[in-house]
Amino acid sequence: MTEQVDTVVIGAGVVGLAAARALALAGREVMLLEAAESFGTGTSARNSEVIHAGIYYPAGSLKARLCVQGRQMLYDYCAESGIGHRRCGKLIVATSAAQVDELRAIQAGAAANAVEDLRLLTREEAQALEPQLACHAALLSPSTGIVDSHGLMLALLGDLEHAGGLLACHSEVIGLAAGMESVPGAIEITVKDGTVLVARQVVNAAGLHAPMLARLTRRLPARCVPRAYFAKGSYFTLGGRAPFTRLIYPVPEPGGLGVHLTLDLGGQAKFGPDVQWVDSSADLQVDPKRGDAFYAEVRRYWPGLPDGALQPGYAGIRPKISGPGEPAADFAIQGPREHGVPGLVNLFGIESPGLTSCLAIGAAVAAMLA
Ligand SMILES: Cc1cc2nc3c(=O)[nH]c(=O)nc-3n(C[C@H](O)[C@H](O)[C@H](O)COP(=O)(O)OP(=O)(O)OC[C@H]3O[C@@H](n4cnc5c(N)ncnc54)[C@H](O)[C@@H]3O)c2cc1C
Repeated sequence: MTEQVDTVVIGAGVVGLAAARALALAGREVMLLEAAESFGTGTSARNSEVIHAGIYYPAGSLKARLCVQGRQMLYDYCAESGIGHRRCGKLIVATSAAQVDELRAIQAGAAANAVEDLRLLTREEAQALEPQLACHAALLSPSTGIVDSHGLMLALLGDLEHAGGLLACHSEVIGLAAGMESVPGAIEITVKDGTVLVARQVVNAAGLHAPMLARLTRRLPARCVPRAYFAKGSYFTLGGRAPFTRLIYPVPEPGGLGVHLTLDLGGQAKFGPDVQWVDSSADLQVDPKRGDAFYAEVRRYWPGLPDGALQPGYAGIRPKISGPGEPAADFAIQGPREHGVPGLVNLFGIESPGLTSCLAIGAAVAAMLA
């Protein structure tokens, strides 16, 4: 069966949903294809749910620009649409005197990204906010917050459907073919159940599988497809009351942001994610033994962590396009100008701050295909 559609978005995570919504609001006829039985069950359901301020990313990078823009869009959208969120703020803590200079460098880097509201606090000032915190100094980020990621995805889907878009689950795309002579200027999409769609525009928002799907795209130059790497992050949850009211982060470590404390909207605390390079995007089990290393990490900023308080939680996998020891890659948003295939946008390496940036990424994709 062959069906004609104006625009197909592949992958109903938060980024695919935001892109599909933006395209539908721009007047396109949009079909969103999702391999799983429901939307938002991939990385978008396995993260820290933090609305990042835009502090750490290199100035001028897509991560910096889309995070700062996306954060503001997200706060506005949450307020308008009644999505659960809280601008709780976060503290980045120096746990040694040597790290205080790192905090100053982080503050300067953030200012270069137009994040001007960070405040360097003395130990006393930080402890006045969070009495259980151990630190030499801390950076307060008032514009960091948390969001109900599932509520967000539900709202995005609602907007998409309201604008006439359609979500099809159980629809794994197994092949894309550009430049077919039978349908000039269109892209043919083959779904696992045998359905073939012909679309003028296609967005590959398949997250961890985006590079693999791109590799299956006929006529897409191989040089435009990055290698996929998977960096697993495990979380451990804290039983009982959270000791802090703000998010608490150590200074970042290679590959991630360090074992930090985040809160959910119910006030439950969790620690993580750590960084473990894995070979499979399906490796989602939390190894309880990894918790042992968390105690020492966490006690650097919260000495009051009781023995046995951490329980294995869940894990997510970062869709990396740079490998261990390499500098972190930027988001890669490739349109026809980059790869030469009309109507195709590939989204690669949409790791953190992808949740924060989703609305800005959606707007960027819609602009690319306008
Ligand atoms: C441990 C961890 C913590 C994070 N914390 C934060 C945070 O606090 N704040 C923040 O801003 N960001 C955070 N992120 C990043 C954020 O979670 C991601 O950037 C975001 O969820 C990516 O969304 P996505 O839609 O691109 O991918 P996904 O959510 O993975 O969605 C991709 C979808 O595509 C589907 N799919 C795959 N292949 C196919 C196919 N062939 N056909 C059809 N469908 C297909 C999948 O089933 C999936 O549903 C974190 C990430 C991780 C791993």
